[in-house]
Amino acid sequence: MIWKSTNGMYVEMTEGVFTSIMEYVLSRKRGETGGILIGNYSDDLSTATILSASGPGPRSLFGLFSFTRRPIGLQAELDEEFISGRYYLGEWHCHPGTNCTPSFQDIRQMQAISRSPSYNCPEPILIVFGRSSPYDFNSASIVKGNGVVKLERVSSG
Ligand SMILES: [Zn+2]
Repeated sequence: MIWKSTNGMYVEMTEGVFTSIMEYVLSRKRGETGGILIGNYSDDLSTATILSASGPGPRSLFGLFSFTRRPIGLQAELDEEFISGRYYLGEWHCHPGTNCTPSFQDIRQMQAISRSPSYNCPEPILIVFGRSSPYDFNSASIVKGNGVVKLERVSSG
């Protein structure tokens, strides 16, 4: 899957990552779930490639209409990825039905991440899936400071 912004930024998700996200989604019968996105950037920084995605951490809170990820347990995983040249890129989660529009609260959480020194990720990516048909209903956004760049899906590959 590839998403593109009007100013030429790309977010790519490998098929393997999409498959593993679907497994996390299907393992929860209802409600929201999510995790972090890990990958790297092209040399010119125009393309972020998502190479792996985590499921929820052990202490994450599940709710039918909310998902709050707790970073406990993920830091060790991130440290390991960092050593192999992969970085924290952002977050994914799913919404009920076909809704894949980031909520106001979703954007606020991403803005907090973008400002947080512990994430070291000033422009985090948020991918939201509508859980009833994630392949068809998804969105990608990049949060930059107080702004949000929405990307358009350009490839179903
Ligand atoms: Zn959300």
